[in-house]
Amino acid sequence: MIENLSKSKYCKGVQCHKILWLDKYKPETKVETARKSVLENGTKVGLLAKGLLGKYIDVPYNKDLSIMINITNELMKEKPNIITEASFEYNHNFCSVDILKNDLDGVELYEVKSSTDISNIYIDDISYQYYVLTKLNLNVKKACLVYINKDYIRYGELDIHQLFHIEDVTNIVQSNLKNVEANIESINDFMNTYGQNNEPNIKLGNYCFKPYLCNYWNYCSKDLPHQNVFDIVRMHYSKKLDYYNSNVISFEDLSKQDMNKTYLEQIDFELNNLKPKINKDAIKKIMDSLVYPLYFIDFETFQLAVPEYDGTKPYQQLPFQYSLHIIKDESSKVKHKEFLAEIDDKDFIRHFAESMIKDIPDNGSVIIYNKSFEPARLNEIARMYPDLADELQRIISQMVDFLEPFKSRDFYMKEFEGSASIKKVLPALYPNDSDLDYHALPVVHNGEEASDTFLSLRGKSREEQEKLRNGLLVYCKLDTLAMVKIWQKFKEILEE
Ligand code: SF4
Repeated sequence: MIENLSKSKYCKGVQCHKILWLDKYKPETKVETARKSVLENGTKVGLLAKGLLGKYIDVPYNKDLSIMINITNELMKEKPNIITEASFEYNHNFCSVDILKNDLDGVELYEVKSSTDISNIYIDDISYQYYVLTKLNLNVKKACLVYINKDYIRYGELDIHQLFHIEDVTNIVQSNLKNVEANIESINDFMNTYGQNNEPNIKLGNYCFKPYLCNYWNYCSKDLPHQNVFDIVRMHYSKKLDYYNSNVISFEDLSKQDMNKTYLEQIDFELNNLKPKINKDAIKKIMDSLVYPLYFIDFETFQLAVPEYDGTKPYQQLPFQYSLHIIKDESSKVKHKEFLAEIDDKDFIRHFAESMIKDIPDNGSVIIYNKSFEPARLNEIARMYPDLADELQRIISQMVDFLEPFKSRDFYMKEFEGSASIKKVLPALYPNDSDLDYHALPVVHNGEEASDTFLSLRGKSREEQEKLRNGLLVYCKLDTLAMVKIWQKFKEILEE
């Protein structure tokens, strides 16, 4: 029996036919990775883009696809018009077109994406739609991808013509049509060959990671040995696949290979249970560079595809929270300060910066973890608010990055498993301290959850907000307490 295909099924099938088989017969093995905020961004972009070409008529979603197709057929007669979610089917291949410009002499189709660039899978997506429409004898004059202009800066009213790029990809799509036909045939053959009790045996490949990390990765890689090539941090997946395809998979086998020292080091530490490696000179250097007062700071941010605040761009990292541990001098106790924006505050970025400038008034060291993040955020705020720029530049110039000795592997432990992330480093340094356990936190356990939790405050009662806000505060506080604990560990090492 021929399976019904849709745009999304077709794209999944192009990535790997087995995804469709697993979706059908073993969906419980899927690991859902889509974040609520990312889905909401996509929905918002889709809705906004509908108005891009002018007044439009929407075909409402219906589980019964034939109803959508019938409504479309009626609307198609009223040309010229613009139809959103216009729905078509050819030989069990169904598609809804995001925006269809239905002209007297043919149609133009527009596929909307919430990303800031074009990728091959988008071409596959729109090629499939072009295929369905042309097979139905529609004269498709143009096929375009609509995506986000990352350089758009919002001031005042949102300008959707500035927010979106429209790229005519008709020629590429036309040259891809033979592939579409072949892919549909191949997908249908595959699904007909492999029934419920006949699981296809597909080797792991490039397609497991591209264009997206497959949701079935855990299931399909379950038979790999514990400690295998895919656990090596920093190695590109194409290199990992080279080893996998050469059947050099386990750490034992990999340890005999001539490869980058960093990879071998991770393997050696884990395989041979090695003791921590500590370069005291490097630790001394970073500790000698510190000047009291010490300010241990960490930011939380969120991103919006459609900028809501003046002076911001699509997907700009917008800081809404910081935690700050302060040690005034050698004999002082650790103090804690924090900032968490109100969800309805339109000027929260300025308030974030003003509060931080007030909390870091001196020329001490500002300790961060990952110098590519916090300075970049402060530079963005400085561009938005030039009157704060001098003070923000002062704070940037005081920054010291505690990630460095871990990234350079001047300090390395087998428990880091190749990573320098604070979430790996902290439990390795303090394995028995439950106060430092991110898993034990009540609401928020990582940066992504922090931004989703903050955005979820919208529309909630004050009482509900308080619970979530408390979750955010304790999470961010642990991130900077972690840096204080690392500083203490550095001190202990130098005193030994
Ligand atoms: S993990 Fe790889 S082999 Fe398994 S379904 Fe996904 S893409 Fe296919």
